[in-house]
Amino acid sequence: MAFTFELPEELTMFRDLARKFAAEQIAPHAREWDEKKWIPDDVIAGMGRIGLLGATLPEEYGGAGQGLLAMTVVVEEIARWCGGTALFIAAHSGLCSTHIRLAANEEQKQKWLPRLATGEVIGSWCLSEPECGTDAEALTTRAEKTANGWKLNGRKFWITNGKRAGVFVVMARTELGQRGTRTISAFLVEGDRPGVIVGEPEDKMGMRASDTVPVNFENCEIPEENLCGVYNEGYVDALRVLDRGRVTIGSLSVGLGRGCLEEAVKYAGERQSMGRPLHGHQAIQIKLADMETQVEAARILVRQAACTHDAGKPDKQLSSIAKLFASEMASRVGWDSIQIHGGAGYTKDVCVERLVRDNKLCEIGEGSSEVQRMLIARGEYARRAAV
Ligand SMILES: Cc1cc2nc3c(=O)[nH]c(=O)nc-3n(C[C@H](O)[C@H](O)[C@H](O)COP(=O)(O)OP(=O)(O)OC[C@H]3O[C@@H](n4cnc5c(N)ncnc54)[C@H](O)[C@@H]3O)c2cc1C
Repeated sequence: MAFTFELPEELTMFRDLARKFAAEQIAPHAREWDEKKWIPDDVIAGMGRIGLLGATLPEEYGGAGQGLLAMTVVVEEIARWCGGTALFIAAHSGLCSTHIRLAANEEQKQKWLPRLATGEVIGSWCLSEPECGTDAEALTTRAEKTANGWKLNGRKFWITNGKRAGVFVVMARTELGQRGTRTISAFLVEGDRPGVIVGEPEDKMGMRASDTVPVNFENCEIPEENLCGVYNEGYVDALRVLDRGRVTIGSLSVGLGRGCLEEAVKYAGERQSMGRPLHGHQAIQIKLADMETQVEAARILVRQAACTHDAGKPDKQLSSIAKLFASEMASRVGWDSIQIHGGAGYTKDVCVERLVRDNKLCEIGEGSSEVQRMLIARGEYARRAAV
């Protein structure tokens, strides 16, 4: 597919909307949310009101009818100021709403998507467990058939938005005692259903504004119609969701890396050393140039990967490349930004330390850097074998 590096007009409008919201409603408060480990409800409602939570949902479900490229634009703008708020969107829209959009039946879509688009209902996505994250296929949460539906038992871990979720997409084993991708189904579980037990938020190093909780299911009875997608195809659908999610996480890192760069450029223009601003010294110019090059390169990779999804020909290898490069890029750029800030960069008065802490998650979640390298190498051999 031909790729244009210029965003189409409707996406520049989206970008500007998200940028304005982030600068006015998020930037002044992000440090406080990091300390308090919470995003206020009215901020989430505000993002819903201006369409940031439904960017990729079809218009008939209250969304903006845009593709994954739009998601990368929104998430980058929000992450520029607060990784935790961007992670909220990545989990709510990128994982939960996307899973429902890709796999659910019409009735389920009608029931959940319009309310997810506005933020009236918050969505969460439950794959990881205490004993398995990378090896998610080994999950032990089980769904047993009952007379009226299903009974869920098991423990999910690291669940983003779990504290405020009105609906969980839960991956559970439906072929008990077996392994394999086609032994797992996905279920829609309402947050207030008996048997759903949400634990206390983790005390994380970064992404602190976003809540991450354990969610247990104890004899949680759900009706037949809460099966989401085809029986035993839940894990296959989850992998499709993750292919897209990786691009979203890449854009989150682009936003964080850009934040670290912009703060460094500003500081290097203000701070004087030896009779001139820091940016007048070649050692700092080289750092700034390398930082800018890396942020730009990561953005192009992420947008290119998003466009392959939007064109209906998802390039999984490129999605992994984009996520790997962007997430490791933002860490490098972040440490350089701290270095340019000198002692000030080592304090919480400068937001860079928070952005760096936030970014570390992007090297771990939705497929760690080790996993992405594995997928990229495997993809390369598969590509060669095919020619
Ligand atoms: C803040 C946060 C939010 C999250 N949100 C969600 C969420 O909303 N929903 C959800 O389902 N999950 C979520 N997760 C879980 C996340 O996806 C997992 O943490 C991640 O997949 C890694 O799994 P793990 O922590 O069990 O690490 P492990 O799988 O135990 O891996 C530990 C280390 O070993 C490496 N490793 C593991 N296996 C291999 C291998 N075969 N080859 C080479 N290296 C390997 C990993 O790369 C990693 O470095 C979240 C996690 C965090 C920290």
